[in-house]
Amino acid sequence: MDIVIKNALVLTQNQKREVVRTDVGIEGNMIAQVGPNLPKSGYVIDGSGCALMPGLVNAHTHLSMTLLRGFADDMELESWWRTKIWPTEAKIKEEDCYYGALLGCLEMIRSGTTAFFDMYFHMEYVAQAIAHSGLRANLGYGMVDMWNAHKRVRELRATGEFLDYVRHLKNSMIECSIAPHAPNTCSEELLLASKQLAEKNGCRIQIHASETRKEVYEVQKRTGKRPVEYLDSIGFLGEECVLAHGVWLTKHEVSLLAKNGCTLVHNPVSNQKLASGGIAPLPEMLQSGVNVTLGTDGCASNNNLDLFEEIKFCAISQKNARWDPTVIPAGQALDFATVNGGKLFGGRTGSIEEGKLADMILVDLKKPHLAPVHNLKSLLAYSARGGDVKTMICGGKILMEDYAIKVLDEQAIILKAQECAERIVRK
Ligand SMILES: [Zn+2]
Repeated sequence: MDIVIKNALVLTQNQKREVVRTDVGIEGNMIAQVGPNLPKSGYVIDGSGCALMPGLVNAHTHLSMTLLRGFADDMELESWWRTKIWPTEAKIKEEDCYYGALLGCLEMIRSGTTAFFDMYFHMEYVAQAIAHSGLRANLGYGMVDMWNAHKRVRELRATGEFLDYVRHLKNSMIECSIAPHAPNTCSEELLLASKQLAEKNGCRIQIHASETRKEVYEVQKRTGKRPVEYLDSIGFLGEECVLAHGVWLTKHEVSLLAKNGCTLVHNPVSNQKLASGGIAPLPEMLQSGVNVTLGTDGCASNNNLDLFEEIKFCAISQKNARWDPTVIPAGQALDFATVNGGKLFGGRTGSIEEGKLADMILVDLKKPHLAPVHNLKSLLAYSARGGDVKTMICGGKILMEDYAIKVLDEQAIILKAQECAERIVRK
């Protein structure tokens, strides 16, 4: 074995969702053995006093937006976009995306996310940051054409160039996807070209859908259909589609997501902070078989990348909205952030089982807010925070051990990110 983790309380997320005290052996980038009393070989990590769980999967974010964290809060959505976010984003350069992404990677390592989906621009620079971090990612260049044919050509060309770039990286930790922004910012031609590109290249599609009532009205006015109905009617939906938000959906739209095998990324913190008003109908989605995952969205609307917070918010906001505390129990919310997110990476990550990728985290249980241990799932879903993650292994590589980051120069990155952030918000 290259690495053996001894005596941890393991949230396996296997088929039976077992929680067991056991050892885990890693060879290369894979989990080679899960069982008690594994011989001490290779590098030994003492897991006693810790929970070992699969690394979390953040299925929707815009990593470089870490630079806009806390820059414009508590604003009405339209003026937030128009007066703050878009004008500032127009000043973001390649270097900013690089350092913003590195800052995001550090935050994810410290809070337990080993794999994520990202959609933004200057994605070549984001890819470089990911490569330096050792995290696993699926990256898409976010396309917006606003029915402008010239812009459409430029956006599709940028996506094509990014696909080539990722292909040439030959980095098994980095995949790419096609990312048309949303049905109210992309023409039908762009959506259909995206679908074709995804089919041709065998990659996934990321898109925002049904995030706000305004979006629903706009799409309805233009097409006579609600966003998901519209996407279904043009043949856009399929198993490769990963839709973010879905807070204003009808039961019919939920059934269309299920029929087409789509994945829905629920972003409870971002939705609630932006006062999107709706709430993703998770019980109906689960009933009809939609793959439900969790995302943080960007740091301009969240304002962090802590997926533990998302797990708790997801469960409690659903309970509150349904007047039913039995809705989305702890284990279910943990599934969203592990196994279900892992399906977006071919099911190779998201559980601690032999033959799966060695993506895992040790959560430090020797803390007042994590004692006593009655029920590990409840503890991880409702009491743990990102900052309790002590050690992270991703793709068999130790990225953080005993709270010490092994891969990046944390203080230097924080300084550079601060510099970039100050420059882009300067008038
Ligand atoms: Zn988003």
